[in-house]
Amino acid sequence: MTDESVNDKPNNEEGEHSASAIFVELMRQAAAKAALKPSSSAAEPSADDAEPQPKAASDGGAREPSLEPAEEAHQIRRVRPRLVLRRPQPGSMAGGFFGTLSVVILSTALVATLLMFFVNPEFLNPAVVQGLQLERDEIIAGIAAAQPTPVQTPQWLRRIGIISGHRGRGQRLDYDPGAVCYDEYKRVVLTEESINYAVATRVVNNLEALNFTVDMLDEFDPRLVDYRADALVSIHANSCIDFGELVTGFIVSKSDARPDTGNDVFLRECIALNYAANIPLQRSYNETEDMINNHAWRKIHPLTPGVILEMGFMLADKEVLTSQHDLLAHAITMGILCYIENAGYSAGLAQSGRRSGDYLVPLLATPTPIFGR
Ligand SMILES: [Zn+2]
Repeated sequence: MTDESVNDKPNNEEGEHSASAIFVELMRQAAAKAALKPSSSAAEPSADDAEPQPKAASDGGAREPSLEPAEEAHQIRRVRPRLVLRRPQPGSMAGGFFGTLSVVILSTALVATLLMFFVNPEFLNPAVVQGLQLERDEIIAGIAAAQPTPVQTPQWLRRIGIISGHRGRGQRLDYDPGAVCYDEYKRVVLTEESINYAVATRVVNNLEALNFTVDMLDEFDPRLVDYRADALVSIHANSCIDFGELVTGFIVSKSDARPDTGNDVFLRECIALNYAANIPLQRSYNETEDMINNHAWRKIHPLTPGVILEMGFMLADKEVLTSQHDLLAHAITMGILCYIENAGYSAGLAQSGRRSGDYLVPLLATPTPIFGR
């Protein structure tokens, strides 16, 4: 009667039984059946105490299929005391000691650190306070007296873009071919593209020889989109049209959308000053829409300083444009170095910031500092 009521309870109460409920149920069934059988009941109580005995008992009693749950519960009972009453190993005792010790030390250090926040400095040893203040004062004095490090920034971290004007046109007729000079028979004798390329390759070579990272870019180079560099210079030559009067000189122009102070202006003035110092041409300010609103200015990253240089007019200034490629490239290289090595310094410091010594620096404040200086 009692075991029936026990059997019914879990079945009726829940559809699913937890593992522990099943275990308890099996235990109860085993206990009830052991009580009915006097032969096995004598062996079973001793099963908990010693290990070899239950083996014999189970071998004798558990062969019958009707006693299977009893055997199962029996085996679980045999395993369980071993898990619970496992004696600590001698080695694990030492480990436990050091483990406890380390936990105590760590928590003491943590609590001491936390309590330091609430300690009034007056309670500290005055010598310690004085020592800490001296250290702090020395650090502040060290920062104030810091001198610029003599180690230069590695040049290959500086990226410079050079656009060879009108290059990369290929067979595409929608590209502007640039200025062209004709002879009396309307044959093309000189192209702007060829002058630009002759100079641009030389500028690239000069800068690469100084270990800069240089990008040689086509007029409509896909890399211009969001292009990031320390400086971008687009190299062009001006019209070969006969205007009926002497039209000569070079023009340097920045994007009209860029501010009138800052890196774009400093780059423009560096190029102009050094170009004028090396090339026997006057500076002209006849900036055209194609210069101040050049397609490149709409593509490059807003923080990439960019200028376009019209090296001279292909009619009046033909001599220098066709025979002085090395000199033209040198003048442009000096302008770029002027910018790269001095941008970010104020006007006064720009002079002392000269490193190559072969270029001129315009007396122009550059209020926008370059990050990383
Ligand atoms: Zn051009």
